[in-house]
This record gives sequence, structure tokens and C-alpha cells, in this order.
Amino acid sequence: MRLEKFSMGIGDRFARQGRAQLQALMRVREAGVTVVPVWNKSHREHGIIGSEPADVRREADAAAQALGWTASHYVDADHIGMKNVDLFLAASDFFTLDVADFTGKPADPADMDAFVRRMERFARPLTVPGIEQPLDVSRERIRDIAGKFLLAVREAGRIYRHIEEKLGAGTFVTEVSMDETDRPQTPVELLFILAALAEEVVPAQTIAPKFTGRFNKGVDYVGDVGQFAREFEDDVCVIAYAVREFGLPENLKLSVHSGSDKFSLYGPIRDIVARHDAGLHLKTAGTTWLEEIIGLAEAGDEGLAIARDVYRLAFGRFDELCAPYATVIDIQREKLPTPETVADWPGDRLARALRHDPDCPEFNPDMRQLLHVGYKIAAEMGARYLDALDACEETVASHVMANIYERHAQRLFLPA
Ligand SMILES: [Zn+2]
Repeated sequence: MRLEKFSMGIGDRFARQGRAQLQALMRVREAGVTVVPVWNKSHREHGIIGSEPADVRREADAAAQALGWTASHYVDADHIGMKNVDLFLAASDFFTLDVADFTGKPADPADMDAFVRRMERFARPLTVPGIEQPLDVSRERIRDIAGKFLLAVREAGRIYRHIEEKLGAGTFVTEVSMDETDRPQTPVELLFILAALAEEVVPAQTIAPKFTGRFNKGVDYVGDVGQFAREFEDDVCVIAYAVREFGLPENLKLSVHSGSDKFSLYGPIRDIVARHDAGLHLKTAGTTWLEEIIGLAEAGDEGLAIARDVYRLAFGRFDELCAPYATVIDIQREKLPTPETVADWPGDRLARALRHDPDCPEFNPDMRQLLHVGYKIAAEMGARYLDALDACEETVASHVMANIYERHAQRLFLPA
């Protein structure tokens, strides 16, 4: 199973927006570029919603069939580890092996020594095609990288072999992720992570490092765009080099997690990917749930009442809702409007506060991030929430589709 050059992770908290999201990718395809959908939902998200991997598979297959989508589609066991991978085996054909928790912990000393010895031939200022300056590689540097990442790579191998044993080699796509850590990984670190993955015989087709800067959920990138672009381009070159040097899958590409809404990065990413003829996986999820809330608010009546209620309750349960997402949100509490204020807002005012339009003076990124993690409230509403989605289906779907197409896929994957 070979993942296409361009793919997009699409998420759907309540399994109602599969078709609307796929419609956005159909439009991309009509414009001449194929971006295949990868439905992703993490264990954390399933736990909060009360859904199961089989629900995602059902939704994905139904959407593809309903729209006559003839290219591939995948179902991603997102951010899984040894402790929960078995729950995902039956429904998934894409596995994101999350080994972030194993980074920063040293592997067995003999294992590290042997790795450093095997990598000795790279211990010099290393010229990588496409990167101007030789990479600063030395024996000490390789040892340092092994100390931070070799254990994580061994764990990726363990999870991969477990899945392979159950499903069979070549029947699924493998991604390795290390994005949910404190420190970003440099291009040099990425190079030796890939070397170790190749030795471990993990046929990774995508890799999700942690990039420099902040990738907060549902809002734009916070950081130095120029530095991001330089490192991203170096990463692309390092991957091409590692594929040749270590014999990794030829279609190996970068995966950008928490990738929705990073508008300031899309231009640079698109240019770099085009310049190097590279592939790209962009993972999104909660941006679609936010469009549901915006659509409900605009629909008025019960939809608006629900949107206000979700905000009021999320405001009151701030700490509980934010805790599982601490490393990927950044909310300034004093910038949140009170629920009493929001209770007086008409639907379009609430929608303007939430819609990711950086030029709109009423846009409130703090409020948007709080609602991003507030889907637990909607899950607890149960039928009340789902019935409203059904009643407002057309409005909601048009927002979901426009968001994925105009703000994301078009900017990233179609020529400027
Ligand atoms: Zn991630």
C-alpha cells in the first residue's frame, strides 16, 4: 500500500461531515491535483466523544461511496502506541506510531555505542544536496542524537512489527510521529532518526517531527516563519537524502500535525514542496468541528442556542477541557468574553468571533481555541447536538467544505 504524494488528514468529531470534507478534495481533484483523504481520530478523541474506530471506517467508506470518490482513502489510527493499537487494527489501514513519550530517554548503552559506530561514516561536515551549508555532524553529535531518539525508534519498531504481524506487511501505511514533545527536532536530528528507522526496518511513508514554533490548535502559526521555512526545506532535503542513503520508502514525506489554520505557513510550504517535487501530508481535525459550531450559530434558533451553551459550559470548565491539550493551545483567559456577553450576541456576531478570518476585527483566537477543545460539551449534549446538526445540515456542510477547500487545500496544494 503506497500513500499518494499529497494527502490530507481530515477529522470529524461527530462523524457527520465526511461528505462535506471529501467534497472539498473533489474540487481540488477537479482542478487537476489529487489529494487523498485520511480520516484520522486519536484514542484521546474517541475517549472524549465515546466513539470507536469502526465508526470512522464506516463514515469514510460511506462518504467515498456516496460521492463516487475513485482515488484512495484511508483511516488513520492516529497517535497510537503499544497500549491501544489493538483497538484500531480492524478499522485502520494507516497507523501513526506516536513515540514522543520515548524521546529524551537513553537507550541501552551498548545499543547506543553500536549505533554510533555504524554511523561513523557520516561523522564529518556532511553535504546534503539542496542544503547550502554542510550539516554539522560529528561523533559527539550522533551520540547525543542517539541518546535522545534511539529508544523512541526502537519503540516505533516494536509497534510496527506488532501491526505487521497482525495485518501483514504492505497492507497499511506507516507514519512515525514525535510532534507532541517539548523541543523541536532539527534537520540533523531528523537525518539520524531516519537512519535508525531504516535500520529498524520500519517502512515509514510519512514522518511527523516537531517543527520550530508553536502549532496551536485551530489558529495560525506562532513563531518565526522564515526560520520555519528554512528548517522545513532542510527537512525536505534530508528526507530525500535519507531515502537514497538508507533505502527508506521512496514516497517518504513530511507530515504536518496540528496543521489546520496555519495560514502564514501555507505559502512557504507550497513553494518548498513544489521546488523539491516533494510530497506532503497535512493533518487537520478540529477545524471542521469549529465550522459546525459556526454553522449552528449562523443558522439561529436552536443552533445558536447550542453554540452559546457550548461556549458557556466550556468557559466554566476551562481547566478540565484544556488539560489534555496543554502543549498545543495557548489561551489568554482575560481575552475571553463572558458567557453573559455572548448570550446577547446574534448568530452572525458569534460566527465572526469564531471564524478564522485574521482580518476581521471581531475574530477572537482565544475563544476559538477554547471552543476547539470544547467538543466534549457537545458530546455530552448527545442527541440535542446531533439533531441540530441534522436540522442545519446544509448551512454546516457549506461551511465545512469552504473551510477545507478555500482556506486549506487550495492554498497548499493548488498552484498560486
Ligand atoms: Zn500529532
